[in-house]
Amino acid sequence: MNSPVFSYKKLLENMLGEGGFKYIARGRELARKGFRVINLSIGQPDVPTPDNVIESAVNSLVVEKFTRYTETQGIPELREAIADYLNQRYGSDVKPDEVIVGPGAKGPIFLAIAAYVSSGDEVIVPEPTYPAYSEVAKLFGARVVYVSLLFRNTIEGFRLDIESIENAITPRTKLIVINNPHNPTGAVFTREELDQLVEIARKKGILILADEIYDNFVYEGEFNSFLSYSDWRDWLIYVNGFSKTFSMTGWRLGYLVIRREIAEVLRRLAVNIWGCPTSFIQKAGVTALKDPESWIWVKKLVDRYREMCELMYSSLKDIPFIETWKSRGAFYMFPRVVKLLEKINMDVETFVEFLIDRYQLIVLPGSAFPAQTSNQYIRFSFATNRDEVEEGVKRFKEAVYDLTSK
Ligand code: PMP
Repeated sequence: MNSPVFSYKKLLENMLGEGGFKYIARGRELARKGFRVINLSIGQPDVPTPDNVIESAVNSLVVEKFTRYTETQGIPELREAIADYLNQRYGSDVKPDEVIVGPGAKGPIFLAIAAYVSSGDEVIVPEPTYPAYSEVAKLFGARVVYVSLLFRNTIEGFRLDIESIENAITPRTKLIVINNPHNPTGAVFTREELDQLVEIARKKGILILADEIYDNFVYEGEFNSFLSYSDWRDWLIYVNGFSKTFSMTGWRLGYLVIRREIAEVLRRLAVNIWGCPTSFIQKAGVTALKDPESWIWVKKLVDRYREMCELMYSSLKDIPFIETWKSRGAFYMFPRVVKLLEKINMDVETFVEFLIDRYQLIVLPGSAFPAQTSNQYIRFSFATNRDEVEEGVKRFKEAVYDLTSK
């Protein structure tokens, strides 16, 4: 074809999407055909946004008619509410003018990478990983250096391989991306791991891009934020959002925190990408953070997911050929299925297709979370109710017995 519309950047053709989105469509299609589909692939809570937050958006729209452009970085009330939330929780000293609100957490992730990463730079990403960081970094010409998480056994679970991260650093390294609590493994990195990373960032002058969007979903042990280091302004770009905590995935509301002078520069980039965050949704964001009712709702949700985590773990752990480590955070279980795949001579994607076609059970292949080791795993989401978890695991067990008893 000669038309210039075909002359887009060729690397877009290999850009990974988010596995979950593809399978949402697949699930709907099967449901339309009359199947009871069990969808454990989706990275979002199973219940809608709390009523007080919805009412706040409606009020802002219908009564206040708050429908026009706002400040690019977000309305002051919301940036204040975000700073208060973070400071109360992490003992930090974030100022409202160090916050930039954007469309979801993905908008701020894009903003950060666009602002810092140039052609020829290297970006270190522990893998398996949520794909957005590496895909955007590649778009800006970076080389993505994946460093595998260590998976020792089903007791110790996933750890950061600090030594390999340090060894991967070159003069071209710009950024280390750390998602904590971690999608897809459910790991929550320890204070010690964070201390070591921060020490590397300080010593080598490298930025840490921290995505802490699952900070409320911690089931065991304590969670430490990168914001709790008093010198965070020297090496941190911080991202968080409303999608998971308040089940607001469709609203598109997230934020980035960075020291004041740089926030001012990033604001210029943001105005040229999204102009400002959606007006009335920002008012709902203030309610989500400030109204105690939302936090009662969040606590109930997290308590329920802790139970679902336990239930899923105890049902998966004794299935032959499957190595399951009990997640500590986020809302995913990431069992290692490589022994099963070897036994049945399938790759992980074929196995996932088999689960969908024969059992109407949707989980994600580890390969949706690149790069080196991820195809040895599958990801279950337990952000759902007891019935779905029980039925999903039952179907999974049947599938494994079916495949291995031949
Ligand atoms: N970061 C991580 C680790 C995620 O899992 C997700 C959602 N799957 C996002 C960011 C994106 O969040 P949002 O929908 O708010 O853009």
